[in-house]
Amino acid sequence: MLPLPVLERAAAEMTDYPGCGQSVAEMSHRSPIYDKIIKGAEASLRHVMNIPDGYRVLFMQGGASLQFSAVPLNLLGESKKADYIISGQFSNKAYKEAQKFADAAAIASSEDENFTYVPTVTADSLRPDTSYLHICYNNTIYGTRYNYIPDTGNVPIVADMSSYILSEPTDVSRFGVIYAGAQKNMAPAGVTVVIIRDDLIGHESKETPAMLSYKLMAENDSMYNTPPCYSIYMLGLVLDWVEETGGLTAMKARNEKKAAILYDYLDSQDFYKAPVKKEFRSMMNVTFVTGNKDLDAKFAKEAEGYDLFNLKGHRSVGGMRASIYNAMPEEGVVRLVEFMKRFAEENA
Ligand SMILES: *Cc1c(COP(=O)(O)O)cnc(C)c1O
Repeated sequence: MLPLPVLERAAAEMTDYPGCGQSVAEMSHRSPIYDKIIKGAEASLRHVMNIPDGYRVLFMQGGASLQFSAVPLNLLGESKKADYIISGQFSNKAYKEAQKFADAAAIASSEDENFTYVPTVTADSLRPDTSYLHICYNNTIYGTRYNYIPDTGNVPIVADMSSYILSEPTDVSRFGVIYAGAQKNMAPAGVTVVIIRDDLIGHESKETPAMLSYKLMAENDSMYNTPPCYSIYMLGLVLDWVEETGGLTAMKARNEKKAAILYDYLDSQDFYKAPVKKEFRSMMNVTFVTGNKDLDAKFAKEAEGYDLFNLKGHRSVGGMRASIYNAMPEEGVVRLVEFMKRFAEENA
């Protein structure tokens, strides 16, 4: 979901961005007005996430998935080694992609228990000359999240935060690189946000395509070519909304409350089962099953009649998944629990 006030403002500005007689979807990315929009979005992101000096914000394309290649191409040092924690499908995809360019190692995995937890690693788990540790901070498909930031000593942590970013305050200084596709919590698909510590820029291998080079993107203020202008504009509007509604501390409180409504219900009954270990439960993606495939399918279908959409679990895991990103109001979660109770009574 996107916040309704954001969609309404975008609609109001669709044909005439205030005072300029054209749509953001039409204007030149080199125009002074658009320059204000992109610089404003970056300034808002810096403010909302409290991004320290010494970090660059890059607006790239290709989704989080293209970062799976960009990260090794830009960050591999002499050793060509990169360590990965496998906590679900996206971290596994990142690892598989890195194997094309790097001596990539999966130093920990939670596949042994079907990704219902997040592995615990320490600095000792890393190979001594690894260039970075890659983690996926919130596992969208399985509904788990890190409840700690690994202590890696001097090894930079690269975190895929696609389904986590902006859901609560984050200590950016603990990470070397944070990246996220826009479409979960930030904007319509198009822009991919990369937050990178200055000293990690400029080490790319020479075959790195221009469009994947952090250095080139930084030197050109993310305007090496035409950026995804409209998606960046929407990101700016979403960030305004985050600020107006109290910033990330308030966002966290609302998200915790929403997640608690759902998890408390799940814990109070035995028709549905929530497979994720409690300490790793995601605040954004809540997974549950009935234990019967036909019933799961019936659930997702009947939920639509209740105006509850996209509840079918990812095709690779089945069951149900409620994605309750920032813009999902508390009433949406309450309505889901009402439907779950009714469905359980009718199908017990
Ligand atoms: C959705 C998602 C992706 C894939 O994002 P794209 O922008 O579609 O490439 C990668 N990682 C995580 C954690 C995701 O939630």
